[in-house]
Amino acid sequence: KDVKPEKPGPAPSPQHDVKISSAERVIFPESGQTKGELADYYARIAPLMLPFAANRPISLVRCPQGRAKKCFFQKHDSGAFGKAVHQVPIREKDGGAEDYLYVEDAEGLLTCVQMGTIEFHGWGSRADAVELPDRMIFDLDPDEGMDFARVRDAARDIRGALGDLGLVSFAMLSGGKGIHVVVPLTPGHDWAAHRDFSSRFAQALSAAEPDRFVATMSKAKRKDRIFIDWLRNQRGSTAVLPYSARARAGAPVAIPIDWDELDGIKDAHPFGIGDVDQLLERAGALKGWGFAAQKLPDI
Ligand code: ATP
Ligand code: MN
Ligand code: MN
Repeated sequence: KDVKPEKPGPAPSPQHDVKISSAERVIFPESGQTKGELADYYARIAPLMLPFAANRPISLVRCPQGRAKKCFFQKHDSGAFGKAVHQVPIREKDGGAEDYLYVEDAEGLLTCVQMGTIEFHGWGSRADAVELPDRMIFDLDPDEGMDFARVRDAARDIRGALGDLGLVSFAMLSGGKGIHVVVPLTPGHDWAAHRDFSSRFAQALSAAEPDRFVATMSKAKRKDRIFIDWLRNQRGSTAVLPYSARARAGAPVAIPIDWDELDGIKDAHPFGIGDVDQLLERAGALKGWGFAAQKLPDI
């Protein structure tokens, strides 16, 4: 009786106490998935997602009527989320403070889903130390129609350039078009240093290879190039969180990926919310993804 099965069977149906209303409402019309299925996805992925999503100010992409109808990006607490969604006051540019949201558990995630959330985006710092960033992201945004192999190569080269500076980085498929190169950092520097490093790093790459990279947002300059979007690293910016679903056709998800695994990947959205069994199975191989104790070097 104490013989362990060789492979775990399908995970049990997700248990949570959040009541999901209109669970049969189709919110991904192209693939037919419902709000209830999205809630089940988040309930099961929560143990993998929370290490990246919990205790961090978040913004939500809410689409109460489904992804094809009106969606909105919510940064501030509306006071309507209940006890599992917490508030953290953050100083605004005008000197006042606004309450931002954060969650600490599956109930918090599920409460947001109940409120129509599809996507979760996070700050690059934690709710208990908002002024000390702990995650730098280079969001690679390819020009329309670019071959994904070029995005993969770019991510790999950025990893190499970061490695030359002594920094370990990780790849995440955005669930959309690009790859995010994620650099975990031990909190200690401020947002000015964070932004400055990421901006100079991106600008150095585009100066070295102007035919491949741009470091400015201008769409005109992006022609056949990849925009290294370093602007995610400014105070107040967010990036989609690992394992977040995307409000895009087919209910894709943003997923961590091993550098070795990246070669065989054909686009930035190989998995969707229906692939949660596979995502849970992959978790073992991805242990350690997104974690490293390291400080920003001087450049
Ligand atoms: P893709 O790979 O398709 O580019 P992405 O998540 O990287 O997917 P971007 O358009 O590059 O999408 O956006 C980068 C980030 O900007 C998002 O992850 C999100 O956190 C933030 N963002 C997106 N929409 C808004 C918005 N309406 N308001 C504020 N921030 C936003
Ligand atoms: Mn992007
Ligand atoms: Mn971007």
